[in-house]
Amino acid sequence: MTTTTVPARTVTTCDGCGIECTNKNRSRSGTMTLRADQLDHQGTPIANGGGIYDFCDHCVSLVMAAVLEVIAGKCREHRT
Ligand SMILES: [Zn+2]
Repeated sequence: MTTTTVPARTVTTCDGCGIECTNKNRSRSGTMTLRADQLDHQGTPIANGGGIYDFCDHCVSLVMAAVLEVIAGKCREHRT
C-alpha cells in the first residue's frame, strides 16, 4: 500500500468570463476591489455593497477600459 499526499490546490475563476485562471491567462494578476455602501430605502448605508473580483487577462483589459471611460467622463450623459 502506498499513501500519497496531494497538496491543496487553489483555483481562481475569472469573475468576468468564468474560465479557470492559470499563469498563462492571468499573467497580469487582474483583481478589482469595489467599495460602495448598500443603502436602505431611506438612503442610509447599511452594509458593504462592493466586492473583490478576479479577472483573466482578457477580462481585466475590458474592465480597465470601462473604468477609464467612466473616469474620462463618458458617462456624464446621465447628469442631465
Ligand atoms: Zn475572463
